[in-house]
Amino acid sequence: MAYRIQGTVLPDGRRQELFLVDGRFSAQPADGATTLLEDAWLLPGLVDVHAHLQLASPAPDDAPPREKVLASGRAQLDAGVCVVREPGSPDHVSTGLGPADGMPRTVTAGRFLAPAGRYFPGLACEVDDAALPDAAVEELRAGGGTWAKVIGDFPVPEQDFLRTYSREALVEAAARVHEAGGRIAVHCTMPEVVQDAIDAGFDSLEHGTFLQLGQVADAARAGATWVPTRTIEPAVRGLMRAMEMPDAVVRRVDEGLARQPEVLREAVAAGVRVLAGTDAGMGPHGQVAGEVRLLVEAGLDAGVALAAGSWAAREWLGLPGITDGAPADLVAYREDPREAPGALDHPVLVVLDGEIVRDAH
Ligand SMILES: [Zn+2]
Repeated sequence: MAYRIQGTVLPDGRRQELFLVDGRFSAQPADGATTLLEDAWLLPGLVDVHAHLQLASPAPDDAPPREKVLASGRAQLDAGVCVVREPGSPDHVSTGLGPADGMPRTVTAGRFLAPAGRYFPGLACEVDDAALPDAAVEELRAGGGTWAKVIGDFPVPEQDFLRTYSREALVEAAARVHEAGGRIAVHCTMPEVVQDAIDAGFDSLEHGTFLQLGQVADAARAGATWVPTRTIEPAVRGLMRAMEMPDAVVRRVDEGLARQPEVLREAVAAGVRVLAGTDAGMGPHGQVAGEVRLLVEAGLDAGVALAAGSWAAREWLGLPGITDGAPADLVAYREDPREAPGALDHPVLVVLDGEIVRDAH
């Protein structure tokens, strides 16, 4: 089956006629191609670079893990998300899932790594300082060889945010994962943990709640990507109350979150790659359009914010955009989503690997 779509292709802004043949884009007109859409704005799909598929799934609470993962993936697809990166999971159910399973292309980091009792109960693979480097390599392999994920700090109820691993353990874990050909992500909020992760060569800083202006240049130099997960701001505040954190800590969180827009603008200006991740799992799946809007509200250029939830994220994950011969992943809108960010809530067509997964036009 061959399809024809005509519209403006982002990021280039070329008005183009695209043919979808055998799951791939083709610039060559295909005989008998069915026209799906004309005069649309076309992106190579949205990307949520921080979502936990098994958590906050639309599937029932007592559904088997695989069913939960598949239901979350479908919710993401329905929102135009063709790629999900999962920085940590309670198990390995997401490993290897993709279009053949009716799922977005899924890149998982295997299990969350945290010391005993230092993450949400029951979710992490619990390892101490000495065991972290080996465990990171194990999870890298078990998750498909692309990413590992470390919880670098976490709030302790009624106390404060406390680091979970020594600087040495972080350095060693990053080195070992890189040696094994993978990349490594860190959940980090505290400035000292952010700094250690930057120095250790971590590839992505997840959350970065208290990332300081003075750390932006180091992050840029080290090539670290920042995923600020602004969508969960209300959930983070709620967590502080639920954990009965002292007033001073709650204030520090409020201040850190309030300062984040300025730090994000400086980070982008300094050349730090900022990407859109919703931290679905803390909240519902399929919200990356909202994260893109929050990046715009933080003062990022609308094109940069859109790239953060689409082509820049794909490129970072080694996936092509809309080019001749590439796998046909595409989401279409009626309006230019850079001019009308609300357009992202209404994809008129979603195509994954050449298959129509949503047609609402
Ligand atoms: Zn997360």
